[in-house]
Amino acid sequence: MYNISIIAGDGIGREVMEAAEYLLDNINLEFKFRYGEAGYDCYQKNGTTLPEETIKIAKKSDAVLFGANTSTPGQPSPIINLRKELDTYANLRPIKSYKGVKSLYDDVDILIVRENTEGLYSQKEYEREDSVIAERIITKKASERISEIAFKQCIDLEKNKVTCVHKSNVLKKTDGVFKESFYKIGEKYPEIEKNDFYVDAAAMYMVSQPQEYQVIVASNLFGDILSDEGAGLVGGLGLAPSGNIGDKHGLFEPVHGSAPDIAGRNIANPCSMILSVAMMLDYLKEFEISNNVKDAVAKTLAKGEVKTPDLGGNASTMEMAKAIVGEM
Ligand code: ATP
Repeated sequence: MYNISIIAGDGIGREVMEAAEYLLDNINLEFKFRYGEAGYDCYQKNGTTLPEETIKIAKKSDAVLFGANTSTPGQPSPIINLRKELDTYANLRPIKSYKGVKSLYDDVDILIVRENTEGLYSQKEYEREDSVIAERIITKKASERISEIAFKQCIDLEKNKVTCVHKSNVLKKTDGVFKESFYKIGEKYPEIEKNDFYVDAAAMYMVSQPQEYQVIVASNLFGDILSDEGAGLVGGLGLAPSGNIGDKHGLFEPVHGSAPDIAGRNIANPCSMILSVAMMLDYLKEFEISNNVKDAVAKTLAKGEVKTPDLGGNASTMEMAKAIVGEM
């Protein structure tokens, strides 16, 4: 039996989490769910975006599922802090094209491995005289361990190339360390091809020749931007899952946010959340069931009979979730 923390959060986070729970209730594994609060609504109720109790529940579970949160002005981001609390230093973001989904390319299959704990997400900003300053911290330790994860993922996925993305021509010291760490760790993996691009060129290639990428490793902000760009290549945020992994914990969440514009209408695409559940099942080493879930999503999309409005249909979130479960 697995103990799973469920943190639905705000907006469509709650709607897609209902779909995730429905899926988990219908697969042949035993789960015990524990529920935690986080986000904007939680702040209104409890005066904090991330209560201690939620952190405690998350730390005690085998894996965490997170929906989405709406940012709360003047308050720290609960998801950034939760990733830090759990030291889930690697953010895995697969970008994959699916049959039946209108996209710019039909043969994209990339894994973006994004550093999750430092870079421009330090949340350390301050004022000095008439300047405002954001700290961009890059350490050797974090750069080496994220490269290690990228090479290991490359092997697990039976791919054979890892690309490091940086801006070391301008950020000579910080991104110098990031790039050096990548090639240093890469020496342990002689069988894997390695290359590196400046982030501006990398962004252009993502659009012009995404097939050239297999696994990308990048610092926090660059990885974030490239993965949304990648999601745009292959059918949008409704199809983009993610996993945050560390040495002790795993947290899985859709790439999208709480989408206030469509929240409460039960029309959010549940695929990114459901594919995040599949990533959680891989993390729990339930590979067969995970593959069943991924295949069921692919079949539902290929058939195209039941799809949410973002994919050009008129199904509700739960109708799509039920169609996916029906394919399993
Ligand atoms: P937040 O402030 O919480 O980050 P946001 O609206 O700025 O929310 P996202 O939630 O990431 O950013 O989404 C951007 C847009 O993409 C949304 O406004 C919505 O229209 C669309 N979108 C995102 N996720 C989905 C989904 N699962 N299904 C359908 N449309 C989605």
